[in-house]
Amino acid sequence: MKIRIIGGGPAGLFYAYLMKRDNPAHDIRVFERDPEDATYGWGVVFSDIALSFVRDIAPELYEAMTHRQVVFDEMAVVHAGQKVTLAHNTFHRMARIDLLKALHAQCRKVGVELVFACKVEDPAELGECDLVVASDGANSPTRSRYQAHFQPQLDVRPNLLAWYGTTRLFAALSLIFRQGDEGLAIAHAYQYSPTHSTFLVEVDPATYQRSGLGAMSEAQSLSWCEKVFAEDLQGVPLLSNKSSWFRYTIVTNARWHHGNLVLIGDALRTGHPSVGSGTRLAMQDSIALFQAYKTCGSDVPQLLAEFVKIRRPGSDALQQAAIKSTEWYENLAPKMQLDPISFAYDYLTRSGRVSHAEVRRRDPELAAAYEKLHPGLDVA
Ligand SMILES: Cc1cc2nc3c(=O)[nH]c(=O)nc-3n(C[C@H](O)[C@H](O)[C@H](O)COP(=O)(O)OP(=O)(O)OC[C@H]3O[C@@H](n4cnc5c(N)ncnc54)[C@H](O)[C@@H]3O)c2cc1C
Repeated sequence: MKIRIIGGGPAGLFYAYLMKRDNPAHDIRVFERDPEDATYGWGVVFSDIALSFVRDIAPELYEAMTHRQVVFDEMAVVHAGQKVTLAHNTFHRMARIDLLKALHAQCRKVGVELVFACKVEDPAELGECDLVVASDGANSPTRSRYQAHFQPQLDVRPNLLAWYGTTRLFAALSLIFRQGDEGLAIAHAYQYSPTHSTFLVEVDPATYQRSGLGAMSEAQSLSWCEKVFAEDLQGVPLLSNKSSWFRYTIVTNARWHHGNLVLIGDALRTGHPSVGSGTRLAMQDSIALFQAYKTCGSDVPQLLAEFVKIRRPGSDALQQAAIKSTEWYENLAPKMQLDPISFAYDYLTRSGRVSHAEVRRRDPELAAAYEKLHPGLDVA
């Protein structure tokens, strides 16, 4: 098959790799707007389950990824100045640039052609081909071009985020809630390499307004965050990588393909950073599109219908969980009075999918502490 891929993020690269590894006769080219070594942001997080998908279908990529990872078992919720540890939450973390490098290397090994610093303005530029894959990210220009067909829904969430890094190492995946005079600021912090941590800061619109963050320069915003999280950073500075404030957009599309053009990854649907599942969702799309080819062969209309059939249920379920998690962070005011144990418990059970029995199984210490504070609790 002649396949052209717009966007060299995890979704496009992984799909290119799976197809070319399967059949070296495929003619596959990936066009990436940015230069090879460019990346935004810092690290990415994968749960154990997320990585098992990669291990099952591409053990050699899994191997290359694990060499570049750090793995820790612990989570921590810091509220009212107190840290509550949540046990048995294993997360694999790695630098986004390392993930991309691992994918570049695997793609090159099997003969995928990677074209960097090449922005595709219009899929028609790509000439005749069997399949065009638009994996061009959450703001997908390809999706916008055909928006009358795809009917995307762009749900811009109210909270504001800024994605910093730091050399202060947060071994536990830490959620830090700091309430100051100007309002509430939340940090999602985790070590992702031997030397660096991601430090994603989230504020609600009222805090953003009161603190004047909207009128501050990038450097002033960074120093505001350093002050708010001074106790956590312990004098270690935050690092910026074009870290300006943005609102997260939850993307859904009524239609997933148009002629021989298909959307995958963030172009198709986004999760939310608070559940750390965007890269997992993107790579699962690549697997599903590959599996659809294995079932239907090169009959493009059939394979695209199969892709939607096998992928839509899982994708919708995970996105719903991401939306619930997003809403939890957006409605924290009534919860700020909770004691640190009850607050951490509320966090753990926020999706509605974790029962008290499950908390007892996962983290008996937290369940016992919560039961002590809530003696009337029905623990049956
Ligand atoms: C603040 C923040 C934190 C996050 N944290 C995590 C996390 O911890 N764990 C996690 O799993 N996910 C996380 N994500 C989400 C994750 O980054 C994305 O879900 C994931 O990268 C999606 O992969 P993708 O390949 O679909 O898109 P992207 O990674 O966005 O890749 C799209 C690519 O397309 C290129 N492109 C765009 N337009 C064109 C064009 N016209 N021509 C050619 N190329 C083009 C872009 O340059 C880009 O390289 C986070 C996202 C944000 C915003």
